[in-house]
Amino acid sequence: AGTLYIVATPIGNLEDITLRALRILKEVDLIAAEDTRHTRKLLNHFAIHTRLLSYYREKEMDRGREIVARLQAGENVALVSDAGTPGISDPGAVLVRLARQAGIPMVPLPGPSALTTALSVAGLEPGSFLFLGFLPSQKSPRRKILTSLISSEYSLVFYEAPQRIEGLLADALDILGDRLALWARELSKSYEELREAPLSELQALAAERQNKGESVVIIHPGTARVPEGDNMEELLCWYRDHSGL
Ligand code: SAM
Repeated sequence: AGTLYIVATPIGNLEDITLRALRILKEVDLIAAEDTRHTRKLLNHFAIHTRLLSYYREKEMDRGREIVARLQAGENVALVSDAGTPGISDPGAVLVRLARQAGIPMVPLPGPSALTTALSVAGLEPGSFLFLGFLPSQKSPRRKILTSLISSEYSLVFYEAPQRIEGLLADALDILGDRLALWARELSKSYEELREAPLSELQALAAERQNKGESVVIIHPGTARVPEGDNMEELLCWYRDHSGL
């Protein structure tokens, strides 16, 4: 059988692709892509001419079976999504499960994700966050999930699309209170913006912004206050309290 490579691609800045990702995308027989037009632009930029097959949410099962059949016939396949790491709030899970059931070797290539990029600048101890991805777009289930998170001791990480960021910040403020949060916007792009502030300030800022961009929001636990200044002792205590160490 061939090998299924799960390949992370840039989240905005085309320079953020690994040498290994470029080599694998060049060498495989087929690239399964969430949106072939989108991926074609990436491939053109790097003069890669590998064949593309679309693999998107609504067709995950059908296309997944088709791709597994090709892998069984000996083809090597790379899976990519529009941005970042496949399977992280993106299609990929169905193909990975089908391939595992079929005993196909799989190789995940490390690379960009909006999740790890935002976390890297949040100043949290690793292991002390809860990733929620996208909350439901409808108000009532969204508020229900936020309510269930009120007493979480972990920092909460959300993805949000431009048209819904104000709604997320407003509901979070209303339900979780005016907590400290990091809004990471347009990571790796020319309008990248990182703001750590109470949710009320971030909400006001979001209302002002014309182009709201793609966002990751990290909301700290209710009782957490990141210590000011350079008091190392205090900082370490804070880490210990919020990382379960
Ligand atoms: N698989 C991707 C990953 O590994 O990050 C996530 C795909 S998900 C469909 C798209 C969401 O990821 C966006 O709505 C936004 O919340 C986040 N995202 C993607 N690119 C981003 C960027 N450049 N800056 C901030 N957030 C981003």
